[in-house]
Amino acid sequence: MEKYKSQGFIASAAGLLAMAVMLGILFAATVGADEVRMQDKLLGLMYHQVLKDPSYHNDYCVSPDELEEDLKFLSREGFTSLLPSEAAQLLQNGEELPEKAVMISFDDGYETAVEYVLPLLEKYKMKAVFNIVGDFSDEYTELPDNEKNLSFAYLSWQEVKTLEESEYAEIGNHTYSMHLNGGDRQGCSRKYGEDDESYRKALYGDIQQLQLKLSQLIGKRPVGFAYPFGLIGEGADKIIESAGITVIMTCEEKPTVLDGLPLTVNRYNRAHGRSAESIYQKYLSQL
Ligand SMILES: [Zn+2]
Repeated sequence: MEKYKSQGFIASAAGLLAMAVMLGILFAATVGADEVRMQDKLLGLMYHQVLKDPSYHNDYCVSPDELEEDLKFLSREGFTSLLPSEAAQLLQNGEELPEKAVMISFDDGYETAVEYVLPLLEKYKMKAVFNIVGDFSDEYTELPDNEKNLSFAYLSWQEVKTLEESEYAEIGNHTYSMHLNGGDRQGCSRKYGEDDESYRKALYGDIQQLQLKLSQLIGKRPVGFAYPFGLIGEGADKIIESAGITVIMTCEEKPTVLDGLPLTVNRYNRAHGRSAESIYQKYLSQL
């Protein structure tokens, strides 16, 4: 009986030990997986307009204070901001990626990029890509200053140049003339019944026009591109890549996997009242 009992004790002790070892392995695996999960992933943030007047605040317009809170949070959390060109370079060279990476983007090229955004980026040493529309900058380059209203104005070509000259900003392509909704083509999507060749010609021609304009203006062709309204036509990615784009930004709200080029960057829309901190919580829950 005594012998049986002690055998039982040894058996349970061995069982406990095995369980502890197993738990240990499980714990180590979990921690390891977390590190790996964070390291090859990127948080993509999408902003549009930044204005002080609360009457403008909505899904596509935040206040300068909200932007500042976001940048404060990201730097406090130890995020490294990556520009599309930097992400492309890292992936191309197979270099190590930052442990916590964020890509901050501003779409449509509003003039508030130089008025409010750039000074904040410089203050917090965070970098962002500004995806501009050729037609908008053409229009606002022609417009006399006294006819401009900061609440609606887009960047002039001179201001695009000013942005690019900062180490905290980079220019991305958001099409020359395809930022339109309501005509026979929605953004970069296909027209109804449009054949491959006509679609390729229209899309490639448009993207290339802005690539060439920017290479003359700032001496380089953007590597980043954002789809207007997040609308993507069948076969669009390949056409856009053939114009030298390697980083394509979408409006899908999920983590981005940094698994090679071309890179698709999924972006969370930073709406008024939705902090970068709350977006980060959602991002973590999706890893
Ligand atoms: Zn847009």
